[in-house]
Amino acid sequence: MTSKTCQTDILIAGGGIAGLTLAALLGNAGINVHIIDKFPPQPFKKTKPSGRTIALMQNSLNIIKATGAWDKCEEYSAAIQTMCIMDNDLNVEFEAYEIGQEQFGVNVPNAILRAALYEQVQSIPAVTAHMPGALEDYKTQNNHVTATLEDGTQITARLLVGADGRNSLVRKIAGIKHREMKYKQAAITCVINHSHSHDNVSTEFHFPAGPLALVPLPGNQSSIVWVETPERAQELLALKESEFAETLQETTDGLLGGITLETKPESWPLGSIHAKTLIAPRTALIAEAAHVMSPITAQGLNLSLRDVAALAETIADTLRLGLDPGSETTLKKYEGRRRIDINTRIFGVDAMNRIVSNNVPALKSLRRGGFKTLERIHPLKKFAMRAGLAPQIDESRLANGKPL
Ligand SMILES: Cc1cc2nc3c(=O)[nH]c(=O)nc-3n(C[C@H](O)[C@H](O)[C@H](O)COP(=O)(O)OP(=O)(O)OC[C@H]3O[C@@H](n4cnc5c(N)ncnc54)[C@H](O)[C@@H]3O)c2cc1C
Repeated sequence: MTSKTCQTDILIAGGGIAGLTLAALLGNAGINVHIIDKFPPQPFKKTKPSGRTIALMQNSLNIIKATGAWDKCEEYSAAIQTMCIMDNDLNVEFEAYEIGQEQFGVNVPNAILRAALYEQVQSIPAVTAHMPGALEDYKTQNNHVTATLEDGTQITARLLVGADGRNSLVRKIAGIKHREMKYKQAAITCVINHSHSHDNVSTEFHFPAGPLALVPLPGNQSSIVWVETPERAQELLALKESEFAETLQETTDGLLGGITLETKPESWPLGSIHAKTLIAPRTALIAEAAHVMSPITAQGLNLSLRDVAALAETIADTLRLGLDPGSETTLKKYEGRRRIDINTRIFGVDAMNRIVSNNVPALKSLRRGGFKTLERIHPLKKFAMRAGLAPQIDESRLANGKPL
């Protein structure tokens, strides 16, 4: 086997949605990037919409648009204009127009978004994709890292970005400690067809085991995220497709009329991961390599894209000044921008998960009391909607629709 050696400014380990977005943003700015991933997506033309979708808030959509990959995804996405929470007899609606927006964001299939980003990355001259390619090890020297791939390829870079997901090898090799919690919950996902229109309303039912969300897709389709105990999730997955559809229709009170399944239901174990730090010498972590959370409130990738934007801006600004993108100063700047947003979201989503997925009377009345208060006090409701959509902690250019 003949092994290759390459040199670059930035090496990204992991070509999920977060890693590919970072590669495209940096590559579009003419910054040399190499990206590696074990499992590249199918070509866009062959990609079918997946059963798992992403609700992208407006700021995240701005970041994705800056990659140049969004045009391809648009026809597969639907706007979310209203968010509705159903908690027994309590029904609270949040409308985007109440905060002067046309929509809260969009819902798009994961597979479509990832395939579009991969195709975009392949068209950018400054980006080299080693896909399929697997990171095996890396060593840090004074002013660079040298990464070794499974096929023997060696890549020297000024900065290594760990975008390699929840079991991040980069996090492990860098010696970054993390806290992990496994929830006694699983999320069932699939896409359904329904006879009634969703009217671009995303509806979340609250049940003791966890929420059940119906999120709009184009036409009369919606995606489902149904949080249950792992045992109940297994029972539901064992049902015939028609029985599953019937159970879903009953559980959601026939809100969307008759239901058939467009994709086979799948189940995902839920938990949280929180890395103690985002940085190590010549190394930065982004997205699920640094933080994983429950899908309730659809915050995971939205938080990750804010990491991506902050790191892209920090790297681009540093290189424009002729400075080192992997220096301690640069890395501290990145960590400083992201720490509070990440800590507060992880804490907030974990607390929300406990309050929402609970039948303990005190927590139940706290939750229902909270929603009632939001309903009554309009400025508070507006504040909650804005805080959920666009945190003011880290004002990024890309998130606000400005260029890198
Ligand atoms: C049921 C469910 C619903 C969700 N819904 C939403 C939502 O509506 N909105 C939202 O914002 N978030 C949502 N999330 C969260 C979101 O799906 C994830 O945050 C996101 O998909 C993770 O992307 P990532 O790029 O960080 O990681 P990944 O997609 O895991 O990508 C990591 C990549 O690294 C590669 N890799 C790993 N190790 C190596 C190695 N050694 N060498 C090379 N490559 C490697 C892998 O092949 C993989 O492609 C949801 C999550 C779940 C479970």
